[in-house]
Order: sequence, then C-alpha cells, then structure tokens
Amino acid sequence: MFSCWLSRLCRGLSTPTGRVTHLIQGSLSRRLMLSSQRRIPELSSFVARTNTCGELRSSHLGQEVTLCGWIQYRRQNIFLVLRDFHGLVQVVIPQDESAASVKKILCEAPMESVVQVSGTVISRPPGQENPKMPTGEIEIKVKSAQLLNACKKLPFEIKDFVKKTEALRLQYRYLDLRSFQMQYNLRLRSRMVMKMREYLCNLHGFVDIETPTLFKRTPGGAKEFVIPSREPGKFYCLPQSPQQFKQLLMVGGLDRYFQVARCYRDEGSRPDRQPEFTQIDIEMSFVDQIGIRSLIEGLLQYSWPSDKDPVAVPFPSMTFAEALASYGTDKPDTRFGMKIVDISDVFRNTKVGFLQDALSKPQGTVKAICISEGAKYLKRKDIESLRKLAADHFNQEVLPVFPKANRNWNSPVAKSIMEEQRSELIRLMEIQEDGVVLLTAGEHRKACSVLGKLRLECADLLEARGLVLRDPAVFSFLWVVDFPLFLPKEENPGELESAHHPFTAPHPSDIHLLHTEPKQVRSQHYDLVLNGNEIGGGSIRIHDAELQRYILATLLKEDVKLLSHLLQALDFGAPPHGGIALGLDRLICLVTGAPSIRDVIAFPKSFRGHDLMSNAPDSLPPEELKPYHIQVSWPADSEAERAH
Ligand code: ASP
Repeated sequence: MFSCWLSRLCRGLSTPTGRVTHLIQGSLSRRLMLSSQRRIPELSSFVARTNTCGELRSSHLGQEVTLCGWIQYRRQNIFLVLRDFHGLVQVVIPQDESAASVKKILCEAPMESVVQVSGTVISRPPGQENPKMPTGEIEIKVKSAQLLNACKKLPFEIKDFVKKTEALRLQYRYLDLRSFQMQYNLRLRSRMVMKMREYLCNLHGFVDIETPTLFKRTPGGAKEFVIPSREPGKFYCLPQSPQQFKQLLMVGGLDRYFQVARCYRDEGSRPDRQPEFTQIDIEMSFVDQIGIRSLIEGLLQYSWPSDKDPVAVPFPSMTFAEALASYGTDKPDTRFGMKIVDISDVFRNTKVGFLQDALSKPQGTVKAICISEGAKYLKRKDIESLRKLAADHFNQEVLPVFPKANRNWNSPVAKSIMEEQRSELIRLMEIQEDGVVLLTAGEHRKACSVLGKLRLECADLLEARGLVLRDPAVFSFLWVVDFPLFLPKEENPGELESAHHPFTAPHPSDIHLLHTEPKQVRSQHYDLVLNGNEIGGGSIRIHDAELQRYILATLLKEDVKLLSHLLQALDFGAPPHGGIALGLDRLICLVTGAPSIRDVIAFPKSFRGHDLMSNAPDSLPPEELKPYHIQVSWPADSEAERAH
C-alpha cells in the first residue's frame, strides 16, 4: 500500500531525465521511510562508523564493522572495551606479529582515548559470553585501528560507580556527561520533549513560538536579572517566564501557543533551583480549567517513557484548603497517608495547658498525625528531633502520644490526657498497635504547616529504617485548585500581593467579593503536583482590561504604566484565554529519579548560581562597562581583597 502510494506520487512528478527521477524517488522514499520508521532512528548516518558500540548482537555475526569510541577498560593487553553513547563492546586486540602496529595503538593508548577500529563481528568462545552486557555474546576481531585522540590524565575516572564531588563533576562537566547516568538522563529528556512537541503541534495544532529574552521588568513575582543597555540608565530584564508574551499571542489570534521556554529568576542560592531553567509553556484561547487539565493529562500520558508504568488519567484534584488541612502544604505527597486530623473536639475539656490555651482562642485548633508502627520503628531521639524541629522552625510545641503502645518515655504532659480522650483519639484516628500520635495546637494554618513538615520528616525516618512508604515506581499526580487570589504581603501584611501572578482571573463564584473582601477571593489558578513536588502551574487569565487595571492599580498598588501595553491589548478584543507552564527540569528529575535537578541539565549552575566550569559570572574591566554607563561599587571587604 505504501509503495503503491509512493509510486503514484512519483509518477505525478515531471520527469526531466531518468537519473534525476531516480534521485528524486530515492530521496523521497528515504524521507517517507524515515518518517514512517521514526521509532528506529539511524544512529550511524553521515559519520565515520558503520555501527554503534552498543548495538552489536549475534545477528551481526560475520559483518565487517567500523566503530568509534572511548577506551573504557583494557584487560591484559588482550581485550579492550570500547564505549560510545550507545553502550560497550569488547574488542579483541590482535596478538600476531603481522598486526603489531594495531596492537601497539590499542595497548598504548591511555584510558578514555578516542579510537576508531575496524574488524569483524565474531561470537565469543563458549563460556566467555557476558549475559550482563547487551553485546555480551559477541566481540570484534580487529583488523585496523586508529588513535583519533589520546587522553591526558583525567581529574576523575569515567565510571559511574567512582564517587566524585559534585563540584568536581560540574568543573569538568564535559567529562561527567560521558557517564551512562547523565547520558540516560539527557536522552530521556530529549525523547520526552520530542513527544511533547509531537503531541502539541502534530496532534493538537499548537504553534511553537519563540519569545524575547531581552525584556523589561514585570511587576510582582520573582526577582529578575537585569541587563544593562547602551542607553544611559536603561536596562533590560530577563523574563521570569513568557507570561505577557503568551497572553499577547492570544490577542494576536495565534490561538494555541507553546514553547520550550528558558526562564530566569534571580532568587539567590536555593538548593534545588536554578537561576535559568526550562518550562514547557502553553497558552490557549477559548479554554477553561477542565480543558487545560485534560490537555496536560494527555500530554504527560503521550510523552511518558515507555519503560515506566503508564500514566492513569484523569488526575485526582484537591482544593487548596483541603490540601492545607490534610497535608499541611499546597503540594501534598499523596503516595502515603498519615494525614492531618482535626482533633479539637476531643480536647474541649482538656487539662493540658497548651491545648487549653490554644482552644480558648477564636481560631484555635488541636491537630494530629498518626505514625503507624511509629512505636516500633522510631527511637526516642527521633521523636525528640521532630519536636525540636517544630520548636525551632515553627515555634510550635508538639506532643508525642502512644495511645496503644506501652512506652515509658511518654512526656509527663501526655500522661495527663484522660482515658476517654485517649479512646476517642484511637477511634477518630483509627490508631493501631504501635501507632504514635504527634499532636500540636494553635492557629489552623500554623498547626497544619508544622504537621505537614513532620509528616514528611517521619516518612524519611521510617524509610531510613527500612519501611517503604513512597514506592519509587509510583507516580502520584494531583491537581490543586481554588487557591486564594491574593496573600498578605510578607513585609507588610496590611497590603496584598498576588498569590501567583497578577494576570490570574478570580474564581467566578467569588467575583462579588473583589471590591469588599478581596482576601476571600479564590482564583482560577491550578497547580500540578507530582509526588509532593509542584511540577506546573497556570490559570485562566483576566481578559477584561478594566478588571486587570482594577486589580493592578487598586488592589495590588502596582504602577500600571509598566503594563500599559498589555492593558491596551486586552482592550482590543482579547479572547478569553488560559494556560500553564510545566517545569521541565523538575519533571525530568522526578521521572529519572535523579537526586538533583542539576543531574538532568547539561550545564547547570552550582547552587550559588555559578558555572564552575567557565567561572561565570566573571568580572569585566571598567573600559568594557563604559558603553553601558555603569560602574561597579565594590563592597569594602572585596576592595581589600582585590588590592591584595
Ligand atoms: N507563567 C506562569 C509561571 O511561570 C505559568 C502560567 O501561569 O502559565 O509560573
């Protein structure tokens, strides 16, 4: 059927000469073949090898091959293991006199030198097969070899099992990239992005559009990097996301936009953040929350690696209020229980001072989590460290109670819990033998936050003792919805700031509160959470200029002049629209199970924001700063250091 269609297509072409027709047919059929065989890419086209090291099997026996790769191991000057991105293959070093020059090259080249070898694929002698190696049934009988480039002494061995500090890995990132783990991570990332493009552009008509990275300040949100310009006192900013542009593309009638977008946030040193990172950035016109959610569920399902369990859709959802009340966070890890329970009613008549105190206040609550088998697996010092954490970081008292376990290290306060309170607690929290309750009291949000943190700490402790709470093969997606539109400003709680960004539309049922009780207004924002990590977020946007102006100027007290272009655009028939951005680095990190997002980025910055390989950021001589009309004002101590 395919060839019939192809020949029909070719017959329709003009036929200037036989040779040209042949070429056209050749290249066309190749193109069609390539697109129909997209799943098996041609790994050795255009280059000086016939095969990759990793692909050779018994089916290649007898074939003459040319391979290029790095020397991974050499054994007794008889065998050499050659490595490329695809895998390892054993090469037999010829021992006969006539091949002395080949032997010399292969035996003298230092490890990690890059060589080209040509020879025949032969089977390994019986008993010498290596079932652990995908190419373990064969080896290469070498006829010729060429040293393409010798390797000098390395700062570390290129073996995944050899431990090296992250600083050293980042300093020699190009060597670190040779590891199987980094190759796996970056290739999986590339495949997932490819599938995402395919899903968005080919299956759903999205348009891949690049937006500027030299932009201006966006009010609200994260701190932005500043770029000097040649105009005195004028600066660009690197965008924290393409938010404004993607909304303007909707005004421009592009309808469905997506971009693998580089974003920049100057947030100082945070352990698992990067100053530049990548988002799968999406915007659609005429869409509602459900539409965006279905699109993303389909996108993840489609791009999910085939070696993992398929993604089940639709993802469950939870309101922000519920997430806070049950998990103490807006990004709950739903792979395990240990939920927060409100036990205020159990303690209405308590004699325990701090519980009494808390409950006498208008917003006062008593809350608890139950650690199943906690009495069996946790030590006294664990509980003490949990209590210390609560006291040091949240200024909250936490009380351990062992309702069904006979432990003699109960605190004296816990002993004053009455018998009926104990049995009510057991009933309400379904406490089993060896269950430990951690109990706290105070204002709802604070009590939930501390227990949310302790819940995760307990999971770490229990897992360190051998229990499995969070199966690494399980991917638990969750939508969190109905966030508040505004939060009190941290530095001045009397004023409001956007909980996400100022373009988020209010929840339709709360619009009437916007003028009277803005703090009560929920938003049309949604977050996507995976295993307790926020991997995406977005919203339905404000498309009404008047409403946008009111929120910016009156409620957020922002300078609307900074956004006059956007406000004007909304006035020119902006369609209703919404979108989302997925944090690609974090997503890939979770999918690969990498310990840090730096392990899924080819050239990441250190957690201080430095490139340890090239030493960026670096200083510039004053004459190079002159065209930008800027001068460095050196802090006193670094001045002394420089003089030194
Ligand atoms: N621009 C937002 C962000 O970077 C995502 C969105 O609202 O689409 O978090």
